Amino acid sequence: MPSIDPEKLNRFVTAMLAPLSSYFTDPGQRVYWAYLVGALLLAAAVGLIRTEQRGARSLLGWLFPRSVWFHPSSFLDVKLMFAKAPIKAFVFVPVAGSSFGLALWVVARLDRYLGVPEPSALSPTTISLLYTVVLFLGWDASRFLLHSLAHRIPALWELHKVHHSAQVMTPFTLFRAHPVESFLFMLRGVLVTGVLTGVFFHLFRTEALQYEFVGVNALGFVLNLVGGNLRHSHVRLCYPRWLEYVLISPAQHQIHHSRDPSHHHRNCGAWLAVWDWLAGTLILSSEARPRAFGLPTKDLNHSPSGLMSALLRPLLGIARVWQTARPTDLSRTG
Ligand SMILES: [Zn+2]
Ligand SMILES: [Zn+2]
Repeated sequence: MPSIDPEKLNRFVTAMLAPLSSYFTDPGQRVYWAYLVGALLLAAAVGLIRTEQRGARSLLGWLFPRSVWFHPSSFLDVKLMFAKAPIKAFVFVPVAGSSFGLALWVVARLDRYLGVPEPSALSPTTISLLYTVVLFLGWDASRFLLHSLAHRIPALWELHKVHHSAQVMTPFTLFRAHPVESFLFMLRGVLVTGVLTGVFFHLFRTEALQYEFVGVNALGFVLNLVGGNLRHSHVRLCYPRWLEYVLISPAQHQIHHSRDPSHHHRNCGAWLAVWDWLAGTLILSSEARPRAFGLPTKDLNHSPSGLMSALLRPLLGIARVWQTARPTDLSRTG
């Protein structure tokens, strides 16, 4: 049996654990510590102002109920976070790095087919502002599109059921996604960033720097800070009615997680509500209130608290979907 090189083993373990620590120290991650603190402060404010949500419970008891944080469904969220760390280290991170290469490829293609444009009259400040907004819109629209497809395409829905089987929600429910679905969302990010950055480089011939706070898109940073993590929680935070047509409130995403199947395919937006509004899938927090989170038993394709079940059974679900689709297709063509 070949001996194990301790140096190699150390590098392997460090690489595997890096994504776990970066979840909390990287401002590009939703569970960055500052966003969690922001969510906690906001939740405390909701608990103090909307005392009817809290009932007779103390503020601390209401913020961290055992029935939520120690629920087997919550444990699966954390298990998935650990299980996906090595996949993130060895697959996601290298692929994510390819968006710069894609941007260069896009610039080269555009230069070749459209020619190099004249220098722009726009100031670097205007270009940076434009790039920040366009990148934010591109990211948000593409997330809405892929999320909507995950609800409409049966094979993708089999994967997306892992996110929707959560019976209770904490900020860690963010990690509750099948690795294949996470990979698709990551590829989408690479494509959108690569193509949009390439177009900006081509048009303006300048480092199209975006406005950033601690290295992330300024708009995403602000929205994450003011409650991005409350969407996956028991804290019902509604926005004023007019604002819920513009931004998805935590309460609106909670409706998306309602056990009532008629709510599953509504409010697919990440930040902006306008995409749902345009698509006719928007539902305001005043129009529905989830009685329970999760999927009806007949829709479940895995155990809501089992790791191996959540990883493997959705794949069997896809195989079933393809098998049942085949005879229908044959009868159509025949
Ligand atoms: Zn969700
Ligand atoms: Zn969904």
